[in-house]
Amino acid sequence: MNYQVINPADESLVTTVELTSFEATDEAIARAHAAFPKWRAVAPGERAEILRNFARNIEAHKSELADLEIKNSGHTRGNAVWEVGNVVNTVNYYSAAPERLFGKQIPVPNGIDVTFKEPLGVVGIIVPWNFPMPIAGWGFAPALAAGNTVVLKPAEYTPLTAMKLAEIAHKSGIPADVFQVLPGKGSVVGNRFVTHPLVRKIVFTGSTSVGQQIMAGCSDQIKRVTLELGGKNANIIFADSDLEKAAAAAPYAVFDNAGQDCCARTRILVQRSAFDKFMEHFERAVKNVRVEDPNLESSEMGPLISKKQLETVQSYLDEPVAFTGSAPTGKGFWMAPTVLLPKDAQARSWREEVFGPVVSVLPFDDEADAIAKANDTEYGLSGSIWSQNIGRALRVARAVEVGVLSINTNSSVRFWTPFGGFKRSGLGRELGPDALDAFTEVKNVFINTAE
Ligand code: NAP
Ligand code: MG
Repeated sequence: MNYQVINPADESLVTTVELTSFEATDEAIARAHAAFPKWRAVAPGERAEILRNFARNIEAHKSELADLEIKNSGHTRGNAVWEVGNVVNTVNYYSAAPERLFGKQIPVPNGIDVTFKEPLGVVGIIVPWNFPMPIAGWGFAPALAAGNTVVLKPAEYTPLTAMKLAEIAHKSGIPADVFQVLPGKGSVVGNRFVTHPLVRKIVFTGSTSVGQQIMAGCSDQIKRVTLELGGKNANIIFADSDLEKAAAAAPYAVFDNAGQDCCARTRILVQRSAFDKFMEHFERAVKNVRVEDPNLESSEMGPLISKKQLETVQSYLDEPVAFTGSAPTGKGFWMAPTVLLPKDAQARSWREEVFGPVVSVLPFDDEADAIAKANDTEYGLSGSIWSQNIGRALRVARAVEVGVLSINTNSSVRFWTPFGGFKRSGLGRELGPDALDAFTEVKNVFINTAE
């Protein structure tokens, strides 16, 4: 069976990709399992050097990978280039891991006790369409570094960069069976990762509903699972913040990647005394967002991924619109950045993850009200706090129930630091110094030294 990859900016056919069948998925998993003993036995320094070589070769293909992502996903040129750089950085960061995969020596009576971090075996990575390259890299880089073999399923919409990354990996010295990319359907390939006993761990990023099914499926075999799911993130703006700066930054915190970002700050909470002033600055900033051909260096927002996604997002437009930006007309899945003023915190746009260029704004009264409103959601991924009172900003940061927060900026993702959610936004953390724990089992060994 084939899949037609469509360019979301103009609806043209990019290419056709063969979907992996159930039987071919099983064969790939068997090959990954067979390749595991040899890959885990590669000396740490050698595995590190192979990963560094992989990173260098991704860097060498930077413009080709960026062009592919622009065509396949409609990402702006600026974003696509950053995304390739993020994969390079992530692979480089975890290339240092094989040589530092330390266990412990624990004082005990009558002997010596040591721990080892053992790789798991075959790791199955299921990737969504919103950030095809970075999300793949956050899984495969630490998984491979820890000595696991990887089968990776990209989203049906966006398989091209993952396929290219696998090709580059193989040319860099990672054996073909150690890292396999299997384009295909979630219900076939993704689900087989969950049910196949030789896949020892699932890394899933995507919707909360599919994440729930995957977690339930993994329970059958007590399969390890990391979940990065949806978000309904708050951008909390206090009256004592640099209001102009907060307003100028707010559009990019939600319209970047056309809002198709689990970290999008889709709920703007503004202190009541500063509400009108904020909205004035915010309107100017939203109208200045450049929504245009993603190929252009100047483009700040491209199209949505698909007609289906566009229709889903447009279904939220039945609430009062404060103002909108602009968007191209004609072919492609385009939508103007849109600012809603929901009636209250029960409005659908305030509660559901929209995953498109739509943001809702509500006022709050004081610190306690801001915290209560921010936490009034089933999600808990990310958020921002704007205040020049750093004591307050930190108090609020400790009270907001999310995994990734930023103060006086909106950026969430750094490959050096842990990323993941509270509540229904997920389970476990990716990136940062501890990511290897999610790709290894601790083994404890006691050696009797008593006579
Ligand atoms: P999704 O269904 O959760 O898809 C994510 C990945 O899981 C894709 O690779 C998908 O494959 C695969 N998948 C689907 N069903 C599966 C199953 N039963 N078993 C194993 N794998 C399965 O997300 P979506 O339908 O593309 O998007 C729907 C909504 O999810 C969005 O509107 C957004 O709200 C949310 N979302 C969140 C994130 C995030 O970063 N947190 C990312 C994407 C989407 P296919 O491509 O073949 O479906
Ligand atoms: Mg789906």
